Amino acid sequence: MVQGGRAARHPLEPAVREGRELLSGEAEEKLAGALERVSRALEGLLREAAGARGLSPIQARILLHLRHRGDGLRRVGELAREFGVAPATVSGAVAALERKGLVRRRSSPGDGRAVALALTPRGGALARELAAWDLPLRRRLAELPSGQKEGALWLLLRLIDGLQEEGAITVSGMCVSCRYFRPHAHPGAARPHHCALLDAPLGVGELRLDCPDHEPAAAG
Ligand code: SF4
Repeated sequence: MVQGGRAARHPLEPAVREGRELLSGEAEEKLAGALERVSRALEGLLREAAGARGLSPIQARILLHLRHRGDGLRRVGELAREFGVAPATVSGAVAALERKGLVRRRSSPGDGRAVALALTPRGGALARELAAWDLPLRRRLAELPSGQKEGALWLLLRLIDGLQEEGAITVSGMCVSCRYFRPHAHPGAARPHHCALLDAPLGVGELRLDCPDHEPAAAG
């Protein structure tokens, strides 16, 4: 909303600017609580989008994941690791998706014995519909200045990386946990980080969450 030619200030803005007022003392606890609320909201949005299409949340996640991966081929074990659930959970969801004609199994290129998963045309169309499941969050994020978005992305990537080290999540494929990643290799540049594999600078917005060339950095 615009008031007197100036954008209206969000009610939280003064407290955010002063920092100490909002984050005094128990900053970590408040941040963890806020992240937990966002996480619950996202779970609810996915459940709603999936349920409206006769899917369970894990079935929707599988369709979205297969859509997002351009090659369209993933193994059950890989998906189970990616989602942090038991292989049997993914197997059951894949079997349901096959019965619905949304996913099919086929031989993996280069390894005739391995079976991989791909979307059917119907599955692809449903996955395109589902892709808008997190629109309410993305609309809110779009309102933020780009500097705040880059800062938030960097923070979240570091948190995910740290939680991986703690063994709390198994997501892989992120630049920040990759042996080729050179953080802050170009200080002061618009693209301050570097990928040694691509030999290319990376801006925060270009950091990957699921790079197929990712190789884990040595521990420690
Ligand atoms: S190989 Fe991929 S994950 Fe690793 S630094 Fe380069 S772009 Fe990032």
